[in-house]
Amino acid sequence: MPVQCSSCEQKRAVLRRPKTGHSLCKECFFWAFEEEVHQTIVTAGLFHRGETVAIGASGGKDSTVLAHLMKVLNERYDYGLSLLLLSVDEGITGYRDDSLETVKRNQQQYELPLKIVSYEELYGWTMDAIVKQVGLKNNCTFCGVFRRQALDRGAMMLKVDKICTGHNADDVAETVLMNVLRGDIARLRRCTAISTASEGADVDPDSVIPRCKPLKYAYEKEIVLYAYFKRLDYFSTECIYAPNAYRGHARAFLKDLEAVRPSAIVDVIHSGEHLSVRHGVKMPTQGSCQRCGYISSQALCKACVLLEGLNRGLPRLGIGKHHRLHANILSQKPLDLEPHQERKLRAADF
Ligand code: SF4
Ligand code: ZN
Repeated sequence: MPVQCSSCEQKRAVLRRPKTGHSLCKECFFWAFEEEVHQTIVTAGLFHRGETVAIGASGGKDSTVLAHLMKVLNERYDYGLSLLLLSVDEGITGYRDDSLETVKRNQQQYELPLKIVSYEELYGWTMDAIVKQVGLKNNCTFCGVFRRQALDRGAMMLKVDKICTGHNADDVAETVLMNVLRGDIARLRRCTAISTASEGADVDPDSVIPRCKPLKYAYEKEIVLYAYFKRLDYFSTECIYAPNAYRGHARAFLKDLEAVRPSAIVDVIHSGEHLSVRHGVKMPTQGSCQRCGYISSQALCKACVLLEGLNRGLPRLGIGKHHRLHANILSQKPLDLEPHQERKLRAADF
């Protein structure tokens, strides 16, 4: 028997909201989902009238829904923002080239300017070339560090005030779990912040331009439903180099919890938000990279060390802690390695 929408009580329900369990018609679901994101934006004071905001766009479901929502809400509630799309081309043949085609279509559909920055132009390396050198184990470390900087650099070229990204509630909860499992207190403390610029939040030492996550409380399942019922044009293939086993375990664990209790996702986020770190726990202090000027807690930023490793044929250089080598790297001196260290740093299979 058809179920009636529990909100308007007129139309037929077409879905059960994964987050609340309510049976809703399409229009009532759209309204509820959009209003929640609007409330998130307003409550956290994410944007101010007159700002230029870059939407990190990958062509995937999250950033496509984010771009669509930002456009809709900016018009509906007159936020007064100038929006544009900012994409990173990692240089992954058969994946990013196709997803960028989706971003280009989104650009037409949403009539927003688009800027694409590539690893090749910024670092002289594509991910295809990096994977050839480092293999398929730590490739996401390179990719993640390079992407964070690439987004900042693209945003600086565009002179934007803020970057917003499509991280959803599942991503944030996964990150909380991963930081707990790794004992990474500095990241744990800041990973739930909705904005790096929000009052009281720790400044993220890895980024320069303020970033925010308007979809922080949006469930991944609802993002998929929204994109599906709105018939949004997005790219759903996984990256061909995606091992990221550790995050995969955290994700699988969280999905199991969600199946038993849907509120598990926001509950994990709330736990992360309310953790306080004991006074006296050592936190990294910020400075800037002596080579490229990017924000860094060491003499060299992570991207510069990783790049140095690639260029010297020592791919493991930036993996793990090699701070004592920074001075040699900066002075262009040989690294003065023991043969066994050199063998280790050269090994692609790590
Ligand atoms: Fe980069 Fe890894 Fe993501 Fe692929 S899965 S885009 S290699 S971070
Ligand atoms: Zn640097």
